[in-house]
Amino acid sequence: MLDTLKGKISLVYLSLVLVIAIVGIISVLNLYSLSKAINGLMTDNYKSINAVTNMLEAVERQDSAMLIYMNVDRQKGIDMFSENTSTFNEWFDIERNNITELGEQTYVDKINNYYELYLKSFSQLQELHNVDTNKAVSYYNTKIIPDFNDLKKEMSELSLLNEKAMFSKKANVTNNTRKSMYILLLLSAFAVTGGFLLSRISTNRFLTPIYSLTQTIKLVKAGDLNKQIKVTSTDEIGELAEEFNNMTKRLQQYEQSTLGQLMTEKNKSLAIVKSITDPIIVLDVNYKIVLLNNAFEKFFNIREEKVVNRHFLEAVRNGEIFDHITSVMNSKEEYKEKIVYVKSDEEYYFNVVVTNIKDANSNITGLIAVFQNVTQLKKLEKVKTDFLATISHELKTPLTSIVMGTSLILDESMGLLNADQKSVISTMNEDEIKLSNLVNELLELSKIESDRAIFNIESCSIEGIIETSIRQFFEQSLQKDLSLYSDVEDNLPKVKADDEKILWVVNNLITNALKYTNAGDEISIKAYAKDKLMYVTVKDTGIGIPEEFQERIFEKFIQVKGQDKEVRGTGLGLSIVKDIIEAHHGTIKCESKLDVGSTFTFTLPLSEKE
Ligand code: ADP
Repeated sequence: MLDTLKGKISLVYLSLVLVIAIVGIISVLNLYSLSKAINGLMTDNYKSINAVTNMLEAVERQDSAMLIYMNVDRQKGIDMFSENTSTFNEWFDIERNNITELGEQTYVDKINNYYELYLKSFSQLQELHNVDTNKAVSYYNTKIIPDFNDLKKEMSELSLLNEKAMFSKKANVTNNTRKSMYILLLLSAFAVTGGFLLSRISTNRFLTPIYSLTQTIKLVKAGDLNKQIKVTSTDEIGELAEEFNNMTKRLQQYEQSTLGQLMTEKNKSLAIVKSITDPIIVLDVNYKIVLLNNAFEKFFNIREEKVVNRHFLEAVRNGEIFDHITSVMNSKEEYKEKIVYVKSDEEYYFNVVVTNIKDANSNITGLIAVFQNVTQLKKLEKVKTDFLATISHELKTPLTSIVMGTSLILDESMGLLNADQKSVISTMNEDEIKLSNLVNELLELSKIESDRAIFNIESCSIEGIIETSIRQFFEQSLQKDLSLYSDVEDNLPKVKADDEKILWVVNNLITNALKYTNAGDEISIKAYAKDKLMYVTVKDTGIGIPEEFQERIFEKFIQVKGQDKEVRGTGLGLSIVKDIIEAHHGTIKCESKLDVGSTFTFTLPLSEKE
């Protein structure tokens, strides 16, 4: 029974019930003995006292009967005497049957003898009275009265004996009552203290293993799987502790096996990372270095053990890379890449690909940055740009003079042309203008791509730029029967931009919109500020762009197939637009639907200055 918790708890309750039962039984016994003692007081002694009192009354009346007999009426005296004799005997019988005290029997016997004498003396008195009244009176005074007094004395003493016994019993009862009270008080105190101690000790005993179980569970929860609970009992809690220990052992084994697997996987990944020829660095959320590979050590001329746990900027003092890294950590994007120029012993261009590392709950726990060396590509691109710039520059001057020459011939200021000559020269002139535009745009592109520092970035008003642009194209829009208008929010903040370049962008977007719309269409330009950015949209209700071209139109020389060849330009405009916007740290996108229209939206950073 004591093997189970249930048994232990039942035992405690049983003990408490037993104590309560003992206290109850003792109380009942005490009350019973008290009631018996009180009963004794009432029945035994009080009965005797009462009987003696009535006996005394009867003999007193018998005495009166004698006097009545002698002095008043003989018959009445005799009747009264015998009547009280019966009364006396009645009470005497009660007393005789109620002998409770020591010495009481002697008194009863004496009273019996004296009473018998008293009765006889009345017969004697009657005989004397019949003979001589005086002798009878003298007999009464000398013999009967002393006997009567003796009888009364014995009865008084009997009464006193009972009275004394009654008082002594009463004292006994009081004493016993007090004793019972003390005993009950003591027992109750004992029961209360015992019960309290028993419940406390047993509660502690039952709870201690539960406390230690809770403590251990907390430690295990915190990761200390070595913790085992000391099993001290074989009851339900002991069983629970044992099962818990088994569980932690299994967890430990599991952890060790998964840990082993994880370690192997980690080592594999580490070996892969270390062997990759591109520099790689892993940072935690506080930008402290967790890991870097051999290529990183080589390129940045640092030793891993010296920089691990140090801030990224302590190892690589490059603000541009750090800004790029922080922008990924702060953005919701999975990864971002950016080409960064790095100058160490040599000049490098790296495409820095930064990817967030997330835990199972998608919380960012760090990031990994891979530095793809694109120096060669960059160099090639530069050669290409320089080449384009040189060619365009070299072509620009002769082309201008060719255009001017053919224009002069077409003017016929140098002589009249026949219809065929005019048509050939006119076609030549159109193509020369196109070629000249292409060369100009190529030159523009190469300028932007070769050196972005030529941008004159300052705080400027986008409303002003939009107004200027609309003014420039208003006439043209009227001629094409188009509605061109701006819808700009009031009190727009200023933007951080090169106003000439942004004017070029807006002009280019409006030129395109004019090109790819028909009479009756609308072109609207909107501007609004949101989330620290200025949004500018150029929307037309023109022919639209097929979906597959919407991303690609920002690439160089991409033109939508099937569009009117007459209106086509060089295919470089949007590419230059994109370059300019990106040089301002903005973005541009195109949303379009065939036969519904196109919307070009670009963003610019807001100026901190007002
Ligand atoms: P282009 O000088 O040929 O206009 P762009 O780079 O400016 O070159 O534009 C690339 C191509 O994108 C255009 O040839 C045209 O097919 C398409 N495009 C640009 N803007 C619009 C527009 N608003 N509506 C329809 N198509 C457009």
